[in-house]
Amino acid sequence: MKFTPAKPPLTGETLDTLTEKLRVQGEPAFRAKQILDWLYKKRARSWDEMTNLSKPLRTWLAESFELMPASLVLNKQSEDVTDKLLLELGDRSLIETVIIRVPQEGVGVEHSRKTICISTQVGCGMGCVFCASGLAGLKRDLSAGEIVAQLLQVCYREDDRTPRARMELASFDNIVVMGMGEPLANYDALLRALAILNADWGLGVGARRITISTSGLVPKILQLADEKLGFRLAISLHGATDAVREQIMPVNKAFPLAKLVPAVRAFSEKHGRMVTLEFILIDGVNDSLAQAAALRDIAQDLHAHVNLIPYNTVQDLPWKRPSLTRQERFADVLRAARVSVTLRREKGHDIDAACGQLRLKTEKDRELAETP
Ligand code: SAH
Ligand code: SF4
Repeated sequence: MKFTPAKPPLTGETLDTLTEKLRVQGEPAFRAKQILDWLYKKRARSWDEMTNLSKPLRTWLAESFELMPASLVLNKQSEDVTDKLLLELGDRSLIETVIIRVPQEGVGVEHSRKTICISTQVGCGMGCVFCASGLAGLKRDLSAGEIVAQLLQVCYREDDRTPRARMELASFDNIVVMGMGEPLANYDALLRALAILNADWGLGVGARRITISTSGLVPKILQLADEKLGFRLAISLHGATDAVREQIMPVNKAFPLAKLVPAVRAFSEKHGRMVTLEFILIDGVNDSLAQAAALRDIAQDLHAHVNLIPYNTVQDLPWKRPSLTRQERFADVLRAARVSVTLRREKGHDIDAACGQLRLKTEKDRELAETP
């Protein structure tokens, strides 16, 4: 299902497209930069704040664009340092954006490094059996403007928290495209959004501070390798042999390891940067020592970093994480081979951190509330 909003979002415009629209209105070229400065640098939240624009221009802008296509409906803060924003789009779809704060030694939490996890679709069509995002399938792709809006909402949130945030261009350090949806299945909107976030007239986020996570769409990984901007890449592996991986990730049938691994190798050779292999540990499914050994071999071959993530329980799904001992034994197989590995104690467990869960719950509540 496609959603065409009544007015296009301003957050989906590039300097070029906005300049062109303004030119048709008889406005000089520098206006576009002025407007984007209001949006990204001065963080104006209404057209009336844009005081160096004439009243008729402001009226035209208000009639022509949605300033912010995503509104904040819920902000859940966990006991550790994770903030989850539930955002509502023009068609009432819900998406999640997560702020993960990594405290720095000796400074308060307001000075922590911040990684923002963003969504690229409403739902997901990839059908991984363990994942809350994919349970109800794909509802629709997000537009570039809706993807960018998530980061701007994070800036608003941080601006409200500390006056200091306003003085910085982007009030966060890194972006991970690991929220709801398969980013490479919405390739064009994603790349347009990332170009806007990267631009100096946008939020100025360096490509190396942006990580795209994919379940393994091989042709798109190869396409991404050819892009000018060098984003970081993470692969949701979750199975180190085809037999295990295809049980839990249907995408493995179209793109088995024999296709995926060479594509990842091509990507990392082109960019000269380590790729991350994400591996969620699910009890009795992919946590055997044989899987650990197979994962070790792939990681060594690709010279990749491995991120082990104990599975987060999802309501209505039968899977659970292995015991701590089992997790450690798995990690030890990789460590013994000097593979770069982290065993994550994931943040935000108490606010339904696993992707898609907060939305799922809110949609269920909504259905209940709206059933007569
Ligand atoms: N669709 C992309 C990006 C979003 S998913 C992808 O799959 O890579 C972000 C990560 O969270 C993926 O590695 C995904 O497999 C993982 N994940 C999904 N459900 C999870 C759960 N219940 N517990 C832990 N990780 C989960
Ligand atoms: Fe989609 Fe990623 Fe979840 Fe798989 S893990 S269903 S690709 S969001």
